[in-house]
Amino acid sequence: MSNTTDGQGKKAIVIGAGLGGIAAALRLRHRGYEVTLLEKQNQLGGRATVYHRNGYTFDAGPTVITAPFLFDELFELFGKKREDYVQFVPLYPWYRIVFADGTHFDYGGTLEQTLAEIRKIEPADCDGYLKLLAQTKKIFDVGFTQLGDQPFHTFWSMAKCAPQLMKLGTWRTVWQMTCKYIKSDKLRRVFSFQPLLVGGNPFNTTSIYSLIQYLEREWGVHFAMGGTGAIVAGLGKLMEEEGIEISLDTEVANVLVGPPPGRKRSGSAGVAFGVMLRGEKRMFSDIVVCNSDSPYTNKYLVSSGNRIKWTDRRISNLKFSMGLFVLYFGTTRPYPDLAHHTIILGHRYAELLRDMFNLKKLATNDLSLYLHRPTATDPSMAPPGCDSFYVLCPVPNLLGDIDWATMGPKYRDIVVDELEKTVMPGLRECIAEDFYVTPSHFRDNLNTLHGTGFSIQPTFGQSAYFRFHNKSEDIEGLYFVGAGTHPGAGMPGVLCSAKVLEHLL
Ligand SMILES: Cc1cc2nc3c(=O)[nH]c(=O)nc-3n(C[C@H](O)[C@H](O)[C@H](O)COP(=O)(O)OP(=O)(O)OC[C@H]3O[C@@H](n4cnc5c(N)ncnc54)[C@H](O)[C@@H]3O)c2cc1C
Repeated sequence: MSNTTDGQGKKAIVIGAGLGGIAAALRLRHRGYEVTLLEKQNQLGGRATVYHRNGYTFDAGPTVITAPFLFDELFELFGKKREDYVQFVPLYPWYRIVFADGTHFDYGGTLEQTLAEIRKIEPADCDGYLKLLAQTKKIFDVGFTQLGDQPFHTFWSMAKCAPQLMKLGTWRTVWQMTCKYIKSDKLRRVFSFQPLLVGGNPFNTTSIYSLIQYLEREWGVHFAMGGTGAIVAGLGKLMEEEGIEISLDTEVANVLVGPPPGRKRSGSAGVAFGVMLRGEKRMFSDIVVCNSDSPYTNKYLVSSGNRIKWTDRRISNLKFSMGLFVLYFGTTRPYPDLAHHTIILGHRYAELLRDMFNLKKLATNDLSLYLHRPTATDPSMAPPGCDSFYVLCPVPNLLGDIDWATMGPKYRDIVVDELEKTVMPGLRECIAEDFYVTPSHFRDNLNTLHGTGFSIQPTFGQSAYFRFHNKSEDIEGLYFVGAGTHPGAGMPGVLCSAKVLEHLL
């Protein structure tokens, strides 16, 4: 990496304080930029904000930490230690996967522990799992180690590594790759659902994303004591210590593009020279970094006259990730038998995903759910003797015609019924606190196009060079980080997008 003080005397504005925006702000500050971070919400974190209700703490979004070193790096930039701000603890199991017949699979721990779980379902798949793991390591070595923090802003950057990616069979989907090695239907689900964690359908997500499996195997799955909110608080403290100016409750209305004040326009490309806030206030800077949802930002914050590549038509042709219905609830009693992370799979798999991603049809029975019980690891996240939870149900994004204002309360009951039937008998009687968010929340509060949970899908045609570039193709001085950009959604992805930004500067 080049000179770490080359931003001295320059100003940077970062739009959005999601984890990608926070990481970008810190990396820019480390390079010497004077950084202002503007956030629409009244809290830092974006999807990783935190809700406090009557003694219960609920992380709003991400909870599964798979690449702890990416957080450590942000503190190390300033000669500090992450452990002095927030503690991580390893989990076992990483996830408990509960099947529709009531049996379960504890995923994680040592290789031997995972093989023992596979043996209980299909002994012949132990060998296949080892081969799958070896393949995911090869993909990891290229997709994460070599390319995860490298820019893909020119066609040449893609062409250079295309042969390597092709050789690894990344034109295959995650599902196809899993089926190549694993025979049991149950285990195929266990080893293919990971793209859902980053907004992809395993049936059309490029197998590059199977590197998530290797990431988990190499570093395990961790949890931050106090929840992900404690990570965001730690990063907030670090930003304050390092002199980053943070402005909450501040929404950017558009990016200012043209010749900077006092300069003539050079050539045809526009230059980003600041932002206009809601309320017409203008703020000037040398560069603008957008962490707000990339499709939304291009469509609404950059005027169409300044966009050559990302026209409204091209944006509307993208494949968007699914939406999320998330119910947060606190109980008056603990559920000690529930793991920290539980994935409850219904009978349907391919059909459910097809309905959700392609047909935009909402499932009202036989749901698949992800249940988070942080109090399994940190009891301080609920009053004594109680548990706090969230349950996440993937649903169609707002391109479907679901009226969430009427469907929301009904869906809350459907989800509670499903939990009662599967892993939480008698739940209804012991809910002390509950509220939910629907795709409308993602659209209205987080400015996400079509209310998606994870921006655009990680298909082959929407990855690397084909995803939103981290450097604008049309406008000088305009950069992008976060879920919609390379390398993609999820905490590791958005933290890496800030590293890509640093490479580009
Ligand atoms: C329920 C849920 C569970 C998840 N679980 C996991 C998990 O366990 N592990 C994992 O790795 N990932 C998980 N993810 C994915 C992960 O949370 C996201 O991919 C990641 O946090 C997104 O970060 P981001 O940098 O793209 O910013 P975002 O979190 O999307 O934040 C963008 C910010 O920009 C702000 N903004 C938008 N427009 C403007 C504007 N005009 N002006 C000012 N501010 C603006 C928004 O308010 C928001 O705060 C989960 C996501 C969700 C929703």
